[in-house]
Order: sequence, then C-alpha cells, then structure tokens
Amino acid sequence: MSTLIDTHNRKINYLRISITDRCNLRCQYCMPKEGVSQFGHSEILRYEEILRIAALAVKKGINKIRVTGGEPLVRKDAVQLINHLSLLRGVEDLSMTTNGILLADCAPALFQAGMKRVNISMDSLEPEKYRRITRGGDLSRVWAGIEAAQSAGIFPIKINVVAIAGFNDTEILPFARLTMENPLQVRFIEFMPVGSLSEWRPEHCISADEIKRRIETFHPLVPVDNSKNGHDGPARLFKFPGAAGEIGFISPISDHFCDSCNRLRLTADGKLKTCLFSDEEADLKFLLRSGRDDQELDRKLTGAISQKPLRHGFLGGVIKRCHRPMVKIGG
Ligand code: SAM
Ligand code: SF4
Repeated sequence: MSTLIDTHNRKINYLRISITDRCNLRCQYCMPKEGVSQFGHSEILRYEEILRIAALAVKKGINKIRVTGGEPLVRKDAVQLINHLSLLRGVEDLSMTTNGILLADCAPALFQAGMKRVNISMDSLEPEKYRRITRGGDLSRVWAGIEAAQSAGIFPIKINVVAIAGFNDTEILPFARLTMENPLQVRFIEFMPVGSLSEWRPEHCISADEIKRRIETFHPLVPVDNSKNGHDGPARLFKFPGAAGEIGFISPISDHFCDSCNRLRLTADGKLKTCLFSDEEADLKFLLRSGRDDQELDRKLTGAISQKPLRHGFLGGVIKRCHRPMVKIGG
C-alpha cells in the first residue's frame, strides 16, 4: 500500500465518509432550528460511487475509514455499505459516528459486517435536557444502543460529549464518573464554530483544560498512553486510577491539532474537504458522473490533498467558519 504525504509532511491515512445529510435529531449546536435544506436523492452519492472513491483512497494510503452523516443509520442499507468497505484490502480500522438512536436494532449486524468500534454522541445524561438539545431525542434509545453495541462485542465504544457552557457543563462530573464502572471512553469535545448559521458563540465554549480541572476536583486523573491499541486520534486520554473506562479531551479550539491532522472528508454530495473549517471542496461527484476514469479521480484527489491547509482559520482570535453546517459535513 502507498503512503499519502501532504505538502506539510503530514501522513494522510483517515477518510471520513458522510453517507447522508438527513438526521432523526436536530441538535441545537449542529443545525439551525428551522433545519437545513436537504440534498435531493440524486445529489447524494450512490453506494457504488462511495465505494469507488473509497477504494481509490485506500490504494493511495488511507487505512482508517469512519462512516458518518447526518445520521448514518437513517440511510437504507448502511450495514451493507459497512460490509463492502470492510472488504477493501488495506482498511485496518472501520468505524462509525452515530447518535445511537437506531443502534439497538443493528449493532450485531454492524459488528458482523466489520464495524468493530463506534462513537456515539450523547450530550446529556438527563432525559429532559437531552430531549431539549436534540430537539426531541429519546435518551433511553441511546442507552439501548450502547448496551446493544456492548453485547455485540463492539469495542471500544466512545461517547462524544460536546461541552457547552450553560448547557451541559453541570454534567461534566456525572459523565466522568460513568467511566468508573463502565468500560466506555467518554470524550469531551470543545464546541466548534462550524456552519454560518450555527449557534456557536465564544462564551459557549469551555476549554478542555477547564473540563479536566473540574473533573480533577473530584479525583486526580492519570494519563493513558494514546498510542495504545492503535489509538492515534487527537484525544488526550486519561482515567481515574482503577476505573473501567477512560476520559478523553479533544481540543480543536484551545489547542488545535492541525500539525498532525491526517483527515480527509467526503461529503454526502460527493465533495472532498481537506479541512473541516475551510470552504475549499473538490467536486468528485462531477468526475464520477461525467464518466472520468480512475486516473482523473486520482489527480483530483492528489490536487486537493496538495491544497490541504496547514492550519484552520480561527487562530489568533479570528473566527472563520465554513458555510456548510456540521450535519452536511459529518464531524
Ligand atoms: N449524527 C451522528 C452523531 O451525532 O454522532 C454523526 C454526525 S455528527 C455531525 C458528528 C459529530 O459532530 C457528533 O459527535 C457531534 O456531536 C459533533 N458536532 C456537531 N456539531 C458540532 C460542533 N459545532 N462542535 C463540536 N462538535 C460538533
Ligand atoms: Fe444529527 Fe448528529 Fe447533527 Fe445531532 S449532531 S443533528 S444527531 S447529525
């Protein structure tokens, strides 16, 4: 397998594929209240188109793939897509980010299809608050999804918590305490300014350091080796001594990890993004649908990667957000 190195000497080996911009929730931090206009059926890449791009990317050096959305499990036959992706030679790590609402029914099938680990977004442990932030979600279904994933053998299960001041910052300790008995990895993610209409404001942000400080008022944390078990993501990992689970901190704002960014993102409408915070996109769908061969797709991919920015655009206090809302990128 080849290795993909960008112009800033970063190894690019991770592709996030958004398979839909539809979602069964409406999280306040991800999409505006009125929702977002959805792509038409023909605008979305078909599974065979996704697989063609994924196969090419894997040949070039991608070995980690994450399927995301919108909510990936609302798209029909997502399990089959997972299965096809898992069969691509060179894919070493295949995962999904989901809100967990539909996971209870399909966790065993996903595991069988080749998805060995999963990230589940859950921003509150209080049913009413969860309902409010997701504009209608039922927390008990997420728990059912977590339990089904555990029973199916999916491991690790990472719980993504977007920390928002004035909303769920009172739940930092309860989330951290979950890891005492339960072998979950709870990851606190700094709230990011993505999407021109998002409700992001600087005063909503809590830095990862502040979250860690608050957790340590309960009990000191010990570091966990991040490279253990092939974890090489941006989370800084810790745990309470003797705890079953782990606690991660992801700090795209206060301590960006651009220098080691290894990611590409394919949107559901077939655009390749090399940086979450940039509006630059390479239109792969156009090439796919105008009958171009793999060489041409490869050139477009290589060209896009050569433009991957060194840093995101809101350093030094200047906030530059991309226009696409998160629900149309995939996180
Ligand atoms: N629907 C799935 C879910 O919620 O897990 C997958 C798509 S969602 C866009 C992917 C991830 O992005 C979720 O973990 C979500 O919490 C996170 N996310 C969305 N908007 C965000 C924001 N403004 N800042 C930080 N994380 C965000
Ligand atoms: Fe849907 Fe995920 Fe966005 Fe929530 S964060 S609205 S579940 S896509």
